[in-house]
Amino acid sequence: MSTTETHSFKSEARELLDLMIHSLYSHKEIFLRELISNASDALDKLRFETLTDEAAKGQLATGYEGLIALTVDKEAHTLTITDNGIGMTRAEAISNLGTIARSGTREFTQRLKEARAAQGEGAGAAPDAATLIGQFGVGFYSAFMASDEVTVVTRHVGEEKATRWSSTGDGTFSVGDGERDVHGTTVTLHLRPADAENGLPDFTQDYEIRRVVKKYSDFVTWPIRLGESVLNSMKAIWSRSQSEVKPEEYAEFYKHISHDWEPPFETLTLKAEGTFEYNALLFIPGRPPFDMYYREQKFGLQLYVNRVLIMERCDDLLPDYLRFVKGVVDSPDLSLNVSREILQNDRRVGAIKKRVIKKVLDTLENLKTNDRERYRTFWDAFGKVLKEGLAMDHDNRDKLKELLWFQSSHDSAAPTSLKEYVGRMKPEQTEIYFAAGDSRAVLEKSPHLEAFLAKGYEVLYLTDPVDELLTDHLTEYDDKKLRSVGKGEVELGSETEKLAAEEARKKAQAENESLLARIQSVLDADVKEVRVSSRLTTSPACLVGDEEDMSPRLERLLKAAQNNAETPRQKRILEINADHAILQRMKSRFEVNADDPALTDFARLLHGQALLAEGSPLPDAAAFARLVTDLMVRAG
Ligand code: ADP
Ligand code: MG
Repeated sequence: MSTTETHSFKSEARELLDLMIHSLYSHKEIFLRELISNASDALDKLRFETLTDEAAKGQLATGYEGLIALTVDKEAHTLTITDNGIGMTRAEAISNLGTIARSGTREFTQRLKEARAAQGEGAGAAPDAATLIGQFGVGFYSAFMASDEVTVVTRHVGEEKATRWSSTGDGTFSVGDGERDVHGTTVTLHLRPADAENGLPDFTQDYEIRRVVKKYSDFVTWPIRLGESVLNSMKAIWSRSQSEVKPEEYAEFYKHISHDWEPPFETLTLKAEGTFEYNALLFIPGRPPFDMYYREQKFGLQLYVNRVLIMERCDDLLPDYLRFVKGVVDSPDLSLNVSREILQNDRRVGAIKKRVIKKVLDTLENLKTNDRERYRTFWDAFGKVLKEGLAMDHDNRDKLKELLWFQSSHDSAAPTSLKEYVGRMKPEQTEIYFAAGDSRAVLEKSPHLEAFLAKGYEVLYLTDPVDELLTDHLTEYDDKKLRSVGKGEVELGSETEKLAAEEARKKAQAENESLLARIQSVLDADVKEVRVSSRLTTSPACLVGDEEDMSPRLERLLKAAQNNAETPRQKRILEINADHAILQRMKSRFEVNADDPALTDFARLLHGQALLAEGSPLPDAAAFARLVTDLMVRAG
């Protein structure tokens, strides 16, 4: 009794299919890479299952050997890719081959939609479908680029029945019973006529198959057979010495494991010999993946034990802050039957992780020293993530500090390291100064910086939101404290200059005591103290915090993180410039009439201005605008 039924592809899958069939993409041969990679995955899965599960092992025929076989039928004009891997159940075939599950493919369709929308608006620069196909590997559906009918016969290990899936790519597929002697999957493509000009070689010719397998699939660890011969070298690329491997081969392997479409930014190899052996091949990508900040995103290195894939993403080999690193670790000395828990507690795994971290950080340090431009590319892509390491990796804190780059007042075009900053410090300068805020443009004009810049002191601009947390862990460098220009009291210059400034400040403070109290009484709800400043030269006022206070931006970030829940507002300190004309005028008015209502308005205006100058929002913008209007009317 046959139970053939017809299903529709899910809408995203249908779109992708349409695209495969109608695109003018000129490297249609990549479909073979995709199908071989699926076969290889299926063999890996089966091997893994039989290693960890005795019952599964019992399912294998004696003398079982995993392989991928390619066969051509010239008469029927078909190409067949067969594996004896894990296979699919009927339900799996329906869901795996009828929907798009892979995140990379999701992103692909998303980008395609965006590109189409952009083209609709007449934007010329939008990538076309063909470019996008080249950039992403698009999996099983790429089969339809080369064929007008695809048939899959598959049988899951341990099952009696096989399933036959087939489609002409017209929006539906049919599923029925199939015939298969052993577990695994056979994909048969009814080939479209060869069209070399449009990148579809004649796949009924052995030499074309050889060429394409060699080009894309040489490192696949299972034999790929055509007739009697094995086409791929199967040499695990990570166990070959770096000088023997061509950059293109590394690039191809990197693309395979990372689903990236561009070559890696940097390739690193590691080899340990002696009592505990392992090889590692690591890659730094050229740009951050779109999911780098998804908390639930899995990352890690592939772990092989003697070329057997044990774990697709082993995060015990890589700290969080290096999650952008891709690669493979292979050790013949670990047990094949390792579980997560055992791995976590294995000292050898910890030792590999240490070496991996060291290798990556040393490579970055070299890059920074020898090729600033390239390091800049890296830093722009991954600097934010690397900064997380300062909080997490105490052992490597000193190394990480050297890798940090900041914008600074020294040079608007070039970032600086802490070492470079220290090299430029004034002889009497003992601390490293920084200002934290949303952008360089805002910080450059912030009143907090006035005294520092007037003295010729460089100030670092910390503009990443993560910098707010960074400064909790980056409290000193080279025995010099890092200090926020917006916190605490400031005295600058030589010891004598500092003393003189402190004297002058105290004097001004005493002379203005009652005016300061008057201002304080107006701003009591927002401000915990009003005092004379030594950090202002041209602005009338600014807001600062005590050493231990949260910065206003951190307060905003935390509030946003708590969904704007009512958090107690932190009061700040209003510092005023006693030499400023406005303060002089206020003082004269105050001496005539301490209750002058204009003083109340002025106090509010000073506070509002100080908020605006540092880039903070006004709590009541309308009230502030009204005060300014009144002032203009009176002055006009
Ligand atoms: P991906 O390989 O990235 O998951 P594909 O579109 O290439 O995406 O394949 C979709 C799914 O179909 C695979 O994840 C797998 O579950 C299933 N599949 C495809 N080919 C095979 C095969 N030869 N053996 C077993 N399952 C397969
Ligand atoms: Mg695939």
